[in-house]
Amino acid sequence: MTNGAIRGRFAPSPTGEIHLGNAWTALLAWLQVRAAGGTMVLRIEDLDPDRSRPAYSEALIAEMKWLGLDWDEGPDSGGKYAPYCQDERRGLYQAALERLDAAGLVYPCYCTRTELAASAPHAGEQERVYPGICRQRTIDPARRAKRRPALRLAVPPGEISFTDLHAGWISQDISREVGDFVVRRSDGVHAYQLAVVVDDAAMQITHVLRGDDLLRSTPRQLLLYRLLGLKAPVFTHVPLLIDNQGYRLSKRQQALSIAALRSQGVKPEAIIGYLAWKAGLLDQYQPVKAAELVGSFALARMPSGPVV
Ligand code: GLU
Repeated sequence: MTNGAIRGRFAPSPTGEIHLGNAWTALLAWLQVRAAGGTMVLRIEDLDPDRSRPAYSEALIAEMKWLGLDWDEGPDSGGKYAPYCQDERRGLYQAALERLDAAGLVYPCYCTRTELAASAPHAGEQERVYPGICRQRTIDPARRAKRRPALRLAVPPGEISFTDLHAGWISQDISREVGDFVVRRSDGVHAYQLAVVVDDAAMQITHVLRGDDLLRSTPRQLLLYRLLGLKAPVFTHVPLLIDNQGYRLSKRQQALSIAALRSQGVKPEAIIGYLAWKAGLLDQYQPVKAAELVGSFALARMPSGPVV
């Protein structure tokens, strides 16, 4: 294990081929850690059995290595760092959930999708605000017997604020803007919000760099850190890569998957050089190895809006 002041991580979900957009956040998270001489962790977020595939995890590990983005530890320190996998860590999430429950902060929710849709109409891209139906109602026993409930956190009112190293001052009143959120789904799968907090704390992550699509989730995570008495990391949310039609790159765009680029003979240096140029780390495009960028990493050069 490298002994460095900071500890960062890349935490992809193996729900598709990794693409240029994932490589972008992976590179930046890796550079933030390497530039500070810190320790890098790779964690595969494979909690959702419906969407995660072992083949994607394997491909992801191979593409990370091919891009020259290495990591320094794993659950089995003897091996050459197989990454952490959330699927193997469910006991930790359950233990955290039980602590919240023991503090009276969690309640069962029997709402169906239809009920939720009727009670809080979807406002465009925004998530629905949970209107607290099950927090107030006493559940009739017949209903209890029929369905396994999701578990929600009873969110206290008030603003949660933090300073993001790229996005600046962020403040959100979760109770108004999100409502009581799910910490365990009705199928028993622990929610991302809970798992990510438990893991980042357990792995002593000091610096989280990720896409700004998660900016709205961060106050929920900060609340969980507070309620669980855990120390929160410093956050850096970077703009996402978008295509020239303005859509964020996604796993559906097969042509921009690292595997597809690789099979067309594109070299890792070309991908890294392109991404570094987009991040303002190079004045013009040139092929470069990730390790050659460590000395020039600076968040200040990062564009503020989406990167085309
Ligand atoms: N697993 C999440 C994703 O792939 C990212 C989690 C995080 O960086 O906090 O979108």
